[in-house]
Amino acid sequence: MNRCNLRNLWKTMNYAGVYIHIPFCRSRCSYCAFATSMYESNFAERYVRALVREIERWAEVESPRAADTIYFGGGTPSLLSPTQIEQILKAVHDRFPVIKGAEITMEMNPASVTSSDELSNQKLRDFRRLGINRASFGAQTFDDRELRQLGRTHTAAEIPSTFRALRAAGFRNINFDLIAGLPGQTLSGWQGNLDAALQLRPEHLSLYLLDVHEGTPLADQISRGMRPKLDDDLAAEMYRFMIDEVTAAGYKHYEISNFCLPGLESTHNTKYWTGNPYYGFGCSAHSYDGARRRWSNERDAAKYCGLIEGAHSPVVERTNLSEEDARSESIFLGLRLMRGLDLKAYRSRFGSNLREKYASDLAHLSDAGLVEIDREVLRLTKRGALLSNEVFAALA
Ligand code: SF4
Repeated sequence: MNRCNLRNLWKTMNYAGVYIHIPFCRSRCSYCAFATSMYESNFAERYVRALVREIERWAEVESPRAADTIYFGGGTPSLLSPTQIEQILKAVHDRFPVIKGAEITMEMNPASVTSSDELSNQKLRDFRRLGINRASFGAQTFDDRELRQLGRTHTAAEIPSTFRALRAAGFRNINFDLIAGLPGQTLSGWQGNLDAALQLRPEHLSLYLLDVHEGTPLADQISRGMRPKLDDDLAAEMYRFMIDEVTAAGYKHYEISNFCLPGLESTHNTKYWTGNPYYGFGCSAHSYDGARRRWSNERDAAKYCGLIEGAHSPVVERTNLSEEDARSESIFLGLRLMRGLDLKAYRSRFGSNLREKYASDLAHLSDAGLVEIDREVLRLTKRGALLSNEVFAALA
């Protein structure tokens, strides 16, 4: 492991992440299953007040760790004003020690900022001034027809213009989300999207296969035959192509769906895969104490505000992980990272030898070319990353 990786590992092992959920969007995408609602300024004000109050009186963990990441997710957090973001950040800094140089990410949508809109450019500069140093934006596809089909509010041309606006505002760490396997998308269409993204050279790429959630308009359209179903073979081809193309362009494939330029892994998201604590605020936010406790907040934004205003806890679900739960989580989360699972660390944490316990499953998975064991590290192969659910089911 080189010095840079060691530093990243040390960083993610010792600090917590703070997640802030902002549940507002300009419109609803056809595939969306997140807790979001339409942006409305009065309600946004009420929500921010509730959020600040939740952070101020939070006492879920007796001695919370210092934070090295703050992540504004949603929804479209960039719909909030800089003043509202400042209020939230102040509450976080008052409640938690936040280390100098913390990674502070904001999710944005291309339609919510454009380089031709001076006010929006000012807004981006204000976000930078407030310490936001990483932008994650939902490009999804560079094809206008696919964007319309998904119900996105931006056009393909707005992706590079937003990217330029972010650079001009001083953002040196930018992530693009792209989705593969959209209804009717061809391999060459996907290739075109990857090429367009790589030309801009963002520091980070999150590349997902379309997940069709029950109850979404897209799921309904597919079940009624209005849109074609995703072909599994084509999806596999897209995934393989993506790994080859993106790694050939100099990006590191560090998690099943995530790539970065050297040293620019998402510090925040890496906490989810390495069992480090994260404290979530806002409706539907999830938290983990880094040991055995998980909890999550009320999903509905109005009910969430009502709970906070009535001085009640917004937490609606708490789980105490059993030893077995903690073990299987550490396997399927740890294996998501392409560097693999450290078998020695697993042994010292759980007092059991994973290699012996799953000897026959591991032999089958290895024969099928899905995993490899290299001394004390178990990791997915490229084929295993594509069929990761089969590996997780075998080792659950
Ligand atoms: S922008 Fe994101 S959160 Fe908002 S509706 Fe679309 S997919 Fe959902």
